[in-house]
Amino acid sequence: MMTEVVLTKDISGIAASSGIEIAKAFRLENPELIVEKNTVTNVDLEVKRFEQALESTKGEVEKIKEHTSQNLGGDNAEIFEAHLLVLNDPELINQIKDKIQIEHFNAEFALQEVVNMFVSMFEALDNEYMKERAADIRDVAKRILSHLLGVTIPNPSLISEEVIIIAEDLSPSDTAQLNRQFVKGFTTNIGGRTSHSAIMARSMEIPAVVGTKTVMADIENGDVVILDGLSGKVIVNPTEEVTKEYNMKKAAYEVQKTEWAKLINEQTVTKDGEHVELAANIGKPEDLNGVLENGGEGVGLYRTEFLYMGRTQLPTEEEQFAAFKTVLEDMEGKPVVIRTLDIGGDKELPYLELPKEMNPFLGFRAIRLCLEMQDMFRTQLRALLRASVYGNLKIMFPMIATLDEFWSAKALLEEEKQKLLSEGKQVAEKIELGIMVEIPSTAILADQFAKEVDFFSIGTNDLIQYTMAADRMNQRVSYLYQPYSPSILRLVKMVIDAAHAEGKWAGMCGEMAGDETAIPLLLGLGLDEFSMSATSILKARSQILRLSKKEMKNLAEEALQMKTTNEVIEAVKEIMK
Ligand code: PEP
Ligand code: MG
Repeated sequence: MMTEVVLTKDISGIAASSGIEIAKAFRLENPELIVEKNTVTNVDLEVKRFEQALESTKGEVEKIKEHTSQNLGGDNAEIFEAHLLVLNDPELINQIKDKIQIEHFNAEFALQEVVNMFVSMFEALDNEYMKERAADIRDVAKRILSHLLGVTIPNPSLISEEVIIIAEDLSPSDTAQLNRQFVKGFTTNIGGRTSHSAIMARSMEIPAVVGTKTVMADIENGDVVILDGLSGKVIVNPTEEVTKEYNMKKAAYEVQKTEWAKLINEQTVTKDGEHVELAANIGKPEDLNGVLENGGEGVGLYRTEFLYMGRTQLPTEEEQFAAFKTVLEDMEGKPVVIRTLDIGGDKELPYLELPKEMNPFLGFRAIRLCLEMQDMFRTQLRALLRASVYGNLKIMFPMIATLDEFWSAKALLEEEKQKLLSEGKQVAEKIELGIMVEIPSTAILADQFAKEVDFFSIGTNDLIQYTMAADRMNQRVSYLYQPYSPSILRLVKMVIDAAHAEGKWAGMCGEMAGDETAIPLLLGLGLDEFSMSATSILKARSQILRLSKKEMKNLAEEALQMKTTNEVIEAVKEIMK
């Protein structure tokens, strides 16, 4: 009897979200849909074929809408409602049928012709709403075409068995739509630890290995995959022995988590009695469960851009107000730092229809975009100001490069505050106003900024990429993502010292804040607040409880004088022994 030989493969990548999972592979890839132009003789049959594809598409979109709304809430399902409207639009459908009946085109070509015509017509209009409709038509047409061609477009929201997703890349909104019940983890060809899909995986507690370069080439649908988000390994079709070994590792990790969980109500105090604040980074109000379950002492970064994603139009002032109010109330007076919209880079908003840029991370993003698209920005500022009376709100501007940018943003905030007050609305008397320090120019000028702001939060994800000139999404230069480099430590020190000289506080909300090699150094540099993925908080607390701030101060002073990252890593290892 012939037995099929199954090849075991070991793949290495970047450990992006902790945990170990074993499940079947589910490749998430968009197949190429090639349209040929043919002449048909039996037009009635061709129209029927088109109608059948249309019906199948409607059924599919209904199902996706239902799943999305059940698993991720109604807001996320809104986009599919718009798709159903397109599928039922007689204007579009009849023109396609006419092309088949009158011009004898095959259904695929007729669909492509009509859709291209509608899309270019809508896109040419100077009207946001019509541009969004163009995007909907394009999406829907792809689905109809896949049914006509008999090709399946995989949809993660329809997965109904335990899988590990294999993909070239996942966008933040793809990640937001993953169903945690069935998606046990994901691994991608590209991406780094600080790409936003990796950050989201951590807050959703989905293990992930990114930047592997080869998972798409090496893994087929249905292969058994071990995903080790602790070490960054992906093992395909493991032997029984390896599976056993990983089941044991998984169990050991669970035991470790149970130990950490005992610290949930503890204060974060060093061995020599110094308190630091351990806060969490969140993307959505629902992430608060994770913050509370992991003993977060506050929210150090609420990335509000996720409110703007997975939908077809900007969120209203009321929608934003409701989200901010929920977060502030649920945190019951604990500090909540809400960052104004930081769109751009790897976080796109298709409905804004911004032109593609050569260097999106260096381009029109965050505060740069908000200062230009002022209506959108003012709406968010009003929502924040109105929510301020429901808790301990601190507002933070992202990507500040110059004091002028800070002053302009602050002036808009002040204007909206005065308007609200004159409308008789309530606004908290004092709201701390801070900035992200994530651009080297701002770190270098921190002494001047410290006179103007109430606090700093160091965004190392960007600060490291800009200091090293190494794109945070590009795994080929990921060796330059060096949080422990003496150059980065010196910048961090400048920011913390500048804040303290003016009696202000300095936090960090970049991923470095939750990194076990960085924590001793940051403690020694005097960081006041560490904000990280909620799932890292208890581990960080258990580490800090064992450290002495005085000793870490000496360690940091030595590290600042070192030449290389490796020297720093060795020094930390030595002290953590
Ligand atoms: C950062 O840059 O460190 C940061 C926290 O912001 P984001 O990751 O959203 O760019
Ligand atoms: Mg940033």
